[in-house]
Amino acid sequence: MIKALTRLSTRKRFLVNSAARHFATLQKALTERSCFFCHARTHEALDICAGCQLDLPWNTNACRICSEPMPSQLSGQVTCGKCLTSQPAFDRCLTAFTFEFPVRQAIHQLKYSQQCYWSRPLGACLHRVIEQQSPLYRPEVLIPVPMERAKKRIRKINQSEEIAKRVGKHMRIPVDGKIVRKIRATSAQSTLNKRERRQNLRGSFEVIGKPAYQHVAIVDDVITTGATAETLARLLKQAGIEEVSIWCIARTPTPAHK
Ligand SMILES: [Zn+2]
Ligand SMILES: [Zn+2]
Repeated sequence: MIKALTRLSTRKRFLVNSAARHFATLQKALTERSCFFCHARTHEALDICAGCQLDLPWNTNACRICSEPMPSQLSGQVTCGKCLTSQPAFDRCLTAFTFEFPVRQAIHQLKYSQQCYWSRPLGACLHRVIEQQSPLYRPEVLIPVPMERAKKRIRKINQSEEIAKRVGKHMRIPVDGKIVRKIRATSAQSTLNKRERRQNLRGSFEVIGKPAYQHVAIVDDVITTGATAETLARLLKQAGIEEVSIWCIARTPTPAHK
């Protein structure tokens, strides 16, 4: 009788353990995803494996105002020479990465090949950096850098809008793409120097109506000289907005000769 009871209890334990094992396997299969960069299996929240997270070109040493990458020996809250001589129209700029491999390739795929899925890891990384570096500054609305209508028809997506939607979802902040409009087509900024970029952007954006916000964040994919951010921030401040943050995926170091 005792033997029979022991056998029964062992069998019961076996069944319970086996069910638990199956449940754990199922749970693992459901939570495990592929790393966006190397495709290894991962449980990491960003959907980027721990190894790739370490290798990504995080913009950790940057000017606290314009996020210009700074020499690594200058750590902490530093302000670059440019911001010390003339403060930009925006209040602060945060960028997750420097514009290098593999972030450069990921942004290109999002921008030129309509591979929208890249907005997910890039948006999640930007969100993480915002929470780490600027948790107290919470804008009321996110404004993606607008794209001219004809260009959007060709490209199909506005990459800034896709990134803003992801970040907005993480932070529960609405995205409003109708506050600023691009009214004039401009030459590709990447082909121009700093002075030409400013001239190129003159009169190319307009603020619609009188926005009822005090603090907004402009969201963009790449910031180079900051001419677009500067133009938009100035327009928004002229329209009565008090505080303008810039949230961007990547920053290119300003070339010395431009
Ligand atoms: Zn990886
Ligand atoms: Zn600066």
